[in-house]
Amino acid sequence: MENNSDKKFQQTLVIVKPDGLKKSLTGNILTRLSEAKLRIVAAKVVQVSRELACKHYEHLKDKPFFDEVVKYIRGTLHGEEYHRVLAIIYEGADAIKKVREIAGVTNPEEADPTTIRGQYGRITTKGMYENVIHCSASDEEAENEIKLWFEPDDIVEEIYPVETIDTLVKKRVWKNVNRTK
Ligand code: GDP
Repeated sequence: MENNSDKKFQQTLVIVKPDGLKKSLTGNILTRLSEAKLRIVAAKVVQVSRELACKHYEHLKDKPFFDEVVKYIRGTLHGEEYHRVLAIIYEGADAIKKVREIAGVTNPEEADPTTIRGQYGRITTKGMYENVIHCSASDEEAENEIKLWFEPDDIVEEIYPVETIDTLVKKRVWKNVNRTK
């Protein structure tokens, strides 16, 4: 029987990148990730702003491929209809390690061929690593990324402490819906 006592209960951020969406791989990727027996606690389709992409890849800002990687996650390299990604939070025992094992290493050519990146990723002729998904690499990275990509109310559980503040923000609402009921 599996001993859960030395396992860490964690959350991790998974992003199906624009190449994953363009290649219609979402179903395959979610099926592969279901092997980890984790729970989804939030999911949304996001049009990634330059600001969000730069913050997400801040740790790579001095790398020669930084601009490319920002364009890549924004979908700028994959055509108008792929200016989006699917962001998902998974939670459970050893979530970070389990997801990274199923995802495979960063370089899709070096990734084990049975992993998601090994199976579906490629290096383009321009040298871009198109590796289909992002997944958090550590507890600290997961927390920073989840707080960057999601608001507390997007998540069905309270995974980090929250506070309530008064704001005056304009928001778009559905037209022709009776809100007095
Ligand atoms: P990850 O956590 O495995 O995604 O790896 P990193 O955070 O180090 O890199 C973020 C993303 O930048 C990767 O998923 C790749 O898309 C890209 N990337 C990382 N290293 C390289 C590299 O050496 N060359 C190129 N072209 N892209 C890279």
